[in-house]
Amino acid sequence: PAVLFEARDLVKRFRTRRHTVHAVNGVSLSIPRGRTVGLVGESGSGKSTVARLALRLLDPTSGELRFDGIDLLRVSRREMRALRRRMQIVFQNPLGSLNPRMRVLNVVGEPLTVHRIAKGRQQVDRVVELLEKVGLGAADLYKFSHQFSGGQAQRIGIARALATDPDLIVCDEAVSALDVSVQAQVLNLLKRLQAELGLSYLFIAHDLNVVRYMADEVCVMYLGRIVERGDGDTLFTDPRHPYTQMLVSAVPEFAPEREGERRHRVAPRGEPASPSNPPSGCHFHPRCPKAMARCRTEAPKVHRIEDGRTVACHLYDPAGEASGK
Ligand code: SF4
Ligand code: MG
Repeated sequence: PAVLFEARDLVKRFRTRRHTVHAVNGVSLSIPRGRTVGLVGESGSGKSTVARLALRLLDPTSGELRFDGIDLLRVSRREMRALRRRMQIVFQNPLGSLNPRMRVLNVVGEPLTVHRIAKGRQQVDRVVELLEKVGLGAADLYKFSHQFSGGQAQRIGIARALATDPDLIVCDEAVSALDVSVQAQVLNLLKRLQAELGLSYLFIAHDLNVVRYMADEVCVMYLGRIVERGDGDTLFTDPRHPYTQMLVSAVPEFAPEREGERRHRVAPRGEPASPSNPPSGCHFHPRCPKAMARCRTEAPKVHRIEDGRTVACHLYDPAGEASGK
């Protein structure tokens, strides 16, 4: 199928002693083959939980997950293990959970061992090939992972993710810890690898410019829900949801063609609310400059507007405010 990955109405609730936390509350998204879907939002919006659910590192409370037409919630443990080869993740600090005394050969070779893809001399050859794909090489094989800079460590993390020859890579804040110039290099590497290998990405970041650069389609998350979804460029040049508008106006735009124009930077209003105690109605209403009476009591439906965009906001309800009463 043209769609590689699909999530329908994903819900993830965590129970703590005092609260039920709706970390993810009805998220749907689909990633076409060879394309990138971006997920953007502040911390606490549920982005990383979506990442973990997508790869079944966490089980959803309800919803559907499909990968290459396969129902991920019905496969056996064994089938899931085989599927895991085809879905990888790159974290913000991909080597952070590994022993710093591990050599690059073992960092990148480990998935080859775990999935019994290659060992011995064959594994060394494959690791060299993977390192070359990410701009490193045989000279790096026996270095320790802690000897590398942030950007190089990220390249090693990407090589490790590529080891099993995946179709989907989830990038969870993969460049967030890097300097802007190094970020650009890693993003361009990811784009080149996508073109070369036909990879699909779920690209998660809090940085709008980074998501805009990478994603064909962007989903904006707020407290466990997708509030706006649309084509990467139009979503940012013409944001419709008040939260997307706030995010866009808070970020200096990267637009060389409009260099002369004066841009206002507006700090986001208010603190993001907590997922353990979300506001009633539209979760965004305490921070929304356009909130109406119904916003406090009634969760907005998802409205489809022009150019395929969807917006979860009462402002786009064709029936208007009165319909909510
Ligand atoms: Fe603002 Fe109401 Fe729209 Fe929520 S539904 S974003 S509070 S206008
Ligand atoms: Mg996160």
